[in-house]
Amino acid sequence: MKDASYIGRFAPTPSGYLHFGSLVAALASYLDARSIGGKWLLRMEDLDPPREVQGAQDAILHTLEAYGFEWDGELARQSARHAEYAALIERLFSQGMAYACICSRKQLEGSGGIYPGTCRDAGHCADGAAIRLRVPSLEYRFIDRVQGEFRQHLGREVGDFVIQRRDGLFAYQLAVVLDDAWQGVTDVVRGADLLDSTPRQLYLQDLLGLPQPRYLHVPLIIQPDGHKLGKSYRSPPLPPDQASPLLTRALRALGQQPPAELAHITPREALAWGIAHWEAERIPRCRTLAEAQLR
Ligand code: GLU
Repeated sequence: MKDASYIGRFAPTPSGYLHFGSLVAALASYLDARSIGGKWLLRMEDLDPPREVQGAQDAILHTLEAYGFEWDGELARQSARHAEYAALIERLFSQGMAYACICSRKQLEGSGGIYPGTCRDAGHCADGAAIRLRVPSLEYRFIDRVQGEFRQHLGREVGDFVIQRRDGLFAYQLAVVLDDAWQGVTDVVRGADLLDSTPRQLYLQDLLGLPQPRYLHVPLIIQPDGHKLGKSYRSPPLPPDQASPLLTRALRALGQQPPAELAHITPREALAWGIAHWEAERIPRCRTLAEAQLR
């Protein structure tokens, strides 16, 4: 079945290099888009310059190219979208849907990450404050294509969340929702560490009258000690000369059944095999997958 209206994306954060876990997420979103004849966009989520590793943006692009990925259109950068984020925050603030919060990190210790609502009705000025979005006391529910039903009570399990930090940086939750809608993304395919963020994003979509994409969360690859294979744990960057063997391994992590020869052909050919044989139904229905479990 073909569906040319499908628009997928990969949205790396340049706080580190791509690692095996990001390859699994990139590959899943790529194959899901290409196998149905859809588009695949690339968006650099460079919202947080202090956490950006110098040279990471270029390294990410080179790695994707070395692994044979081809994206449609121009690379989008969140750093070029500040005016849109600021205008939206201004609107939410002036309409009372968001408010200024001056709580210190210390004050919030012990609240278990759920904002207790201290500044909700305080009427603080926005200058020099964090901006939080008021969340309703509602349970959000959605059906993930792999993980199945996911429920989260926004009021009880999340609380009012930050959309702009005190230092002026824009929050991921707000930027991702605006940009997915701006780029017309119909299908979000990403790591299961973001399953928990999805209800916040659904709420923002409702609030802003934006269409809701379909979601598919792939297992997060973890190290034997249980650490997420991610930038914060200095996972090894993907070696450019190991593209086909690692693509083959990533296909296996996604439950596909590539023949052993795939490790010895070009990355483009390995991806072409993946596109022709993609079965999203085979992705393991688990949130984490230990690296050691992979063949
Ligand atoms: N930028 C996020 C990351 O690198 C992914 C965001 C998303 O796919 O929604 O983890």
